[in-house]
Formats: sequence, structure tokens, C-alpha cells
Amino acid sequence: MTDQQDDGKPQDPFKPYKGRFETYDRIPEKGRKTDDILEEIALMAEEENTAWRTGKISGTYYHAGDAHRAFLNQTFSYFSHVNTIQFDLCPSMAKFESEIISMTAGMLNGDAVKDVDPSDDVCGTVTSGGSESIAMAVKVYRDKARAEKNVTAPEIIMPKTAHPAFNKAGAYYGVKMVIVPVDFPDFRVSPEAVEARINPNTVAIVGSAGNYPYGLIDPLRELSAVALKHGIGFHVDGCLGGFILPWIEKLGYKIPPFDFRLPGVTSISADTHKFGYALKGTSVILYRNPEFRRYQYFTFPDWPGGIYASPTSAGSRSGGLSAATWASLVSLGASGYLDAARSIMHVADEIRAAIEAIDGLIVIGEPTFLIGFRSEALDIFHINDFMKTRGWRFNCLQLPPALHFCVTLPQTRVPNLGAEFRKDLAEGVSYARQNVGTPAQSSALYGLAGIVDGNQQVNDLLCGVFDHMYAI
Ligand SMILES: *Cc1c(COP(=O)(O)O)cnc(C)c1O
Repeated sequence: MTDQQDDGKPQDPFKPYKGRFETYDRIPEKGRKTDDILEEIALMAEEENTAWRTGKISGTYYHAGDAHRAFLNQTFSYFSHVNTIQFDLCPSMAKFESEIISMTAGMLNGDAVKDVDPSDDVCGTVTSGGSESIAMAVKVYRDKARAEKNVTAPEIIMPKTAHPAFNKAGAYYGVKMVIVPVDFPDFRVSPEAVEARINPNTVAIVGSAGNYPYGLIDPLRELSAVALKHGIGFHVDGCLGGFILPWIEKLGYKIPPFDFRLPGVTSISADTHKFGYALKGTSVILYRNPEFRRYQYFTFPDWPGGIYASPTSAGSRSGGLSAATWASLVSLGASGYLDAARSIMHVADEIRAAIEAIDGLIVIGEPTFLIGFRSEALDIFHINDFMKTRGWRFNCLQLPPALHFCVTLPQTRVPNLGAEFRKDLAEGVSYARQNVGTPAQSSALYGLAGIVDGNQQVNDLLCGVFDHMYAI
């Protein structure tokens, strides 16, 4: 089923606008009318927005309520031209960012650090996203251990389920990532397995709250004890769960402690651009005390351009994003976040129940807002193939094969979505039963991963996709 273009050539799914709108491979000689441009952009946006409005897309769009988004866009517009680093010219930036950090720290029980050591004081910075927050923590642990313990070949221990942003940061900053498998069928990392890998080069360990594949919270209490015992850092990746687990906990769900209440936690990443419902392009990295944050700052006094300093890996950042993030937190308030979590959990509980009701499907661990599931009897990717025809978009997982669905606010705005999910899933399972033994469409790539040769092929393929995307 390939869409045909007028010229009979199959349409490239990455380039649906080719031939439909003008392609610019050079700056146009004469500027275009702004009305024209707006019309074209609005058309693309409206078409692309139809997908998440169905509520059938896992994760990806976290709030996207039209009124909230319009409000954030308005706040953005006042500072879209401002560089956050220009604190002197725009003191509003210092206000927005310090308050974003403080509000996030408060939500994650930052005050609890004083019970352990009154001289500790949670602090942090605003970054461009979860990957940068994580990269900053990796750099901090590397530089702190080098300065204080003379560690020159740093290692960080992470569960296999932790986000690849850690692997990426390790690759960028020259830190070896030691990967620990997760236990079966619990799918959480074992604290003993983490401890067994600690050596004099270990600068920190990592746990997720919750992890991206299954939304599960690692045994953080135990990992905290391991970190304390060995005097090393402990980063909790709350990029995904940081802005929703505190509210789910307040709703009365049983959530183990995941934040600064744990005495061994030295840093937490939490994404404002996910369940903080802010615009894309912001996250917060928090540290137990300012000593850690010092290792994040970059200063270079000897430049002809002036004395240079920057707090994160980014240089210029848009002040609009900081204004909008601040506005998101302040406009929703604790009651707004709590209401959002309640609506999300209502749908998530329905989805979980629908999966659990089907013989042959296994929910992974004890999830909350993100439900991962697999099957031993069926090819889970057959179910994905079928659900695609009904407009559902899951995230495909591998090692082992599984699917996940992450509930965000768009799902809560579609009436009876849970019932529709239940009905479609039952049909998807019948489809998978009828097709046992035939290869599923959505699994083509996954067969290759994990094989040494296969990995090289997949790497080449993925790089090829980027090259193609950047080609005109
Ligand atoms: C999204 C996510 C990240 C990375 O964040 P980006 O904002 O995409 O850079 C890290 N960890 C988890 C668990 C995530 O879900």
C-alpha cells in the first residue's frame, strides 16, 4: 500500500510535502508574503495535529490542550527573541529560571535533604531537555571524581532499561557506562547486581523513576543505600516520571520513594517539557547541594570576546521557553497537576485492565501511567500491526519484544477511549492468533538488533535515515 504521486512514483513517507509545496534549496531571491507562509505552515500543523487528537498515540504529545498551548505560546512570544544567558539585560530570566528550579525541587521533596545534612540545599539549572539534564549530571560526576578522588577512567553503572541519553553522554564525555541487565520477570534492576559492579573507577550509579521502556521505578531505596555505602553519586532519572509520580502518589497510589527523601540521591532530572506540560525544549537538573552544580558550570575568562561563562552545555537559549515553562507551572498549580494525574490514571487503569483481561498478554511489572506488555504465546508485533490499522500507535520495545502505551493528557480528552482500546485490542489478539508463524511487519528491524553483525547493519540503516531526512 504505497501512496502514488501524480507522476506514478511511490511517495516518500519522509517527504510528503514534496511537489505539494515549493521546495527551497536556496534562500529565495525575493521574500515571500507572510500571509502565504502562515497559511502553508498552518496547513502542515493542522494535518499533523490530527494524529494526537485521536488520543491513540502513545506519549509524544503531553498536554497539547488548545487553550493551554495558546497561553504558553503567548507567554513565549514576549521573550522569544531573548537569550536566557543575558541575565543582566533581562532579569526576568533569573526570576523565571530560579523559580522553575525551586518549584521543581519543592515538588521532589528537596527540603528532605536538610534532615540528613542541614548544610545541603537542593539547587539546579534549567536545560534544553532530558538528554542535556542527564549529560550535565554525567559530566558533574566525572569532573567531581577527577577533582576529589583522582579518578581518570570514570565509570557509571546503569540499568539496561535506563535511557540512551546516558550512553550518549558517556560517549560525549568519555565516561564508561556499565550496563546491568534487569531481573526477569520483575524487569527492574537488582541492587546486588549494581553493587557487584562497583570498583574504584565508579563515580555514580543510575536508577529510573520511571524508565522509558516500561514506566517502572527501579528499587531506588536500595540503590540509595548502595550509593551511600560506597560514597558515590546516585542519579535518579525522573525525566519521564518526575512531573507525574509526585501527583500519582498524592492520589493514593502506592509509589515507592523516588526523590530527595532518599538520602543517597545526589541528582534528579525531571522534564518540564513532558508531564510539566511546558513547551518542548526545557528540563530541570537538580543536585543535592551547590558543590555538585559547580562542576557543571563552564567558565573561560581569557577570551578576546570578553569573560565567558555558561551554566549548561548550551550557549544561547530562548528566553521564551523559560517564560513559558514558568507560566505552565504557575498557571496549572498543584491542583492542576493533580487533576491531570487523576485523568491520566483513569485512562491508564482502563488500558491496564484491558490488557490484563486478555489471556496470553502479560503486563510488565507494576506500572502506573505507562503500561508495557508482552506475550509468550503470540507475536506482540502482530498485535501492533493490527492496532496500527485502527489508528493506535504504540512504542515497539525489544530485548524482549514488547509494546508500551504511555498515557498523556490528549488521551483523557477522548470519550470512551478505554472501551475502544479494549475492543480493538481483543481484535488485535485474534489477528495475532490467526497469524502465528508468519512474520509481523513491525518487527523487521528488531530481528537484527542484538546480533553483532546485525547491530552494524542497524547502525548503518539508522544513519542512512538521518542522511535521507536531511536531504532536500
Ligand atoms: C524522554 C526521556 C529522557 C530524555 O529526554 P529528552 O527530553 O528526550 O532529551 C530521558 N529519560 C527518560 C526516562 C525519558 O523518558
